[in-house]
Amino acid sequence: MNRVYNFSAGPAVLPEEVLREAAAEMLDYEGTGMSVMEMSHRSSAFQKIIDTAEQDLRDLMAIPDNYKVLFLQGGASQQFAAIPMNLMKNKVADYIVTGQWAKKASQEAMKYGKVNIVASSADQTFSYIPDCSDLPISEDADYVYICENNTIYGTKFHELPNTKGKTLVADVSSCFLSEPVDVTKYGLIYGGVQKNIGPAGVVIVIIREDLITDDVLDGTPTMLKYKTHADAGSLYNTPPAYGIYICGKVFQWLKKQGGLAAMKEHNEKKAKILYDYLDQSRLFKGTVEKKDRSLMNVPFVTGDADLDAKFVKEAKAAGLENLKGHRSVGGMRASIYNAMPIEGVEALVAFMKKFEEENEL
Ligand code: PLP
Repeated sequence: MNRVYNFSAGPAVLPEEVLREAAAEMLDYEGTGMSVMEMSHRSSAFQKIIDTAEQDLRDLMAIPDNYKVLFLQGGASQQFAAIPMNLMKNKVADYIVTGQWAKKASQEAMKYGKVNIVASSADQTFSYIPDCSDLPISEDADYVYICENNTIYGTKFHELPNTKGKTLVADVSSCFLSEPVDVTKYGLIYGGVQKNIGPAGVVIVIIREDLITDDVLDGTPTMLKYKTHADAGSLYNTPPAYGIYICGKVFQWLKKQGGLAAMKEHNEKKAKILYDYLDQSRLFKGTVEKKDRSLMNVPFVTGDADLDAKFVKEAKAAGLENLKGHRSVGGMRASIYNAMPIEGVEALVAFMKKFEEENEL
């Protein structure tokens, strides 16, 4: 077996310990004589798995009792529609557009009501986070929407926007559980788990209870109504059971690592190794404003598309996988989520140094 350092933006690297444990339990989960994959979601064994996963997530994020945790399907993209369908009582929402995912979410919301783009960084290819301290928030906005970490561009809101009392909704797909958060500052937090938490197929929604109502837009499908899933404890229909089981294992792994404060420290240490190198390199350069840099997704370029392609190819041959930038921006991107060990980042920087020596322009 030869595991590579996998810098994929998602699906992405998972803790080896979690994968080993899941493999050991594959044929006989805790004496049930079957895999979690084969188990009824109505069984007591699965109920224990989902209850424990929820409690561990609540512990990790210090989720208050007046928030529900929902384990859903449809990916983060399905939430682009579910959010307006459930929350747009006045049919007005304010969106801050800091990348493709926020843009897509805003475009989807436009199908259901009036969307005001109250800030955007499109003018400079989304390479920064706009000042959000005094935005023209709409009087009747049902919510203010952000994508907290921009997976493609590598920027992060290090300070939440001033929503002037309006409900904050955040897509945290690519920074989920990477550092502590104050859940009370949000009405709704959601993310696909396939970057920092588990296998593709599960999306987690953390939503304040007062936002869960029957008063949804006409025609909202039962499956897209938060109340459906909140009332049924995420078991209205067959859930992505195996995915939830792996998420649960990652939550336990995170607890063992010391929780989210320890994760933040670890992530800052890893990101610093890469950013410090980029800041002094003559060949490679980071593409975003330093103050807005993400701890999770680090895009960089040489400025020469052929050299970028050569780098990605040679890095792959050296066991450093998935370093190609997103198809919409080119260059390179190293995603260094929670489960990427520090050794992976050190190996990447060592390889970049060697490549720089061999390819100086
Ligand atoms: N939001 C963000 C920040 C993402 O990075 C992605 C996917 O990469 C999505 C949403 C879309 O997620 P999904 O493919 O689960 O719909």
